[in-house]
Amino acid sequence: MHSIRGDERVVIAAVGVGDVTHCLESLEAAPGVESAVRISAPYKFVSREYKAEKSEIRVDGASFGGGEFTVIAGPCSVENEKQLMTTAIAVARSGARLLRGGAFKPRTSPYDFQGLEEEGLKLLRKARQETGLSIITEVMSDRDVDLVAEYADVVQVGARNMQNFALLKSPGKVGKPVMLKRGLSSTIKELLLSAEYVTSHGNPEVILCERGIRTFETATRNTLDIGAVPLLNELTHLPVVLDPAHATGKSSLIPALARAAVAVGADGLMVEVHPCPEEAFSDGAQSLTFEQFDELMRGLRPYLELWREQRRAVMAS
Ligand code: PEP
Ligand code: MN
Repeated sequence: MHSIRGDERVVIAAVGVGDVTHCLESLEAAPGVESAVRISAPYKFVSREYKAEKSEIRVDGASFGGGEFTVIAGPCSVENEKQLMTTAIAVARSGARLLRGGAFKPRTSPYDFQGLEEEGLKLLRKARQETGLSIITEVMSDRDVDLVAEYADVVQVGARNMQNFALLKSPGKVGKPVMLKRGLSSTIKELLLSAEYVTSHGNPEVILCERGIRTFETATRNTLDIGAVPLLNELTHLPVVLDPAHATGKSSLIPALARAAVAVGADGLMVEVHPCPEEAFSDGAQSLTFEQFDELMRGLRPYLELWREQRRAVMAS
């Protein structure tokens, strides 16, 4: 049972199995009940039917789903102290609000760099202390959820784990927002049902991330499903972030797609930044230099003014 307390009414959602027709009728007859309705979407708590207004998820001073477009930036992997600290300082200076960086890395090959694990988490904490940026980092196993949540402000569940149901059931306990990335071959319905796993297990703070899907096209690493953003905004109240880096695998395409993220009404952006992309342990080809990231942020400014105006109008309506 979950409830939303508004100014004029309280919405109480109950999830169960079986035929509820009779139950709806008797509830409707009860005093104080305005109406009893069945949520027709297969995902309940994350649907717009359950909650019409967009959810705002606050992360320290930053927010997703509120009046600001929030940018997450940082290296694909945490490699060493110098790499992380210089990147954190640079992205903070250019206007990022969260620092990303994988300490547990899901790699296609077992011979590739797998991440610094707890050592990497400690470096992320240090970067947080030095820059004030909030930290988002990935958890790959339910075994590590408590450990990652101790260091992270937002716990990321990556594309490859979008349907790791044991993992999705565990972030409920940790009390930190979860960013759920769309699986490589997952439908929007599957993404929302995975988000429903997290919310129905006690954590309503889920941020969705569109990061490209597998198609026949090989010119880009994945195919960015830009339409997923406005579609998700219709179907769910959860904030939506766009990741053009994993969607394309190509740094030259990122500024244009970042502008597209703003234009289609995403709540934020996640990009990869590295002091020297050609030396990155992972995802160098899609990583921006400090200068390129700064240019991207400056280029976004006029678009963000329009975005804020639009958001204010939606929030006021
Ligand atoms: C990442 O963001 O570090 C990552 C591994 O992305 P994805 O899960 O989308 O492949
Ligand atoms: Mn990456």
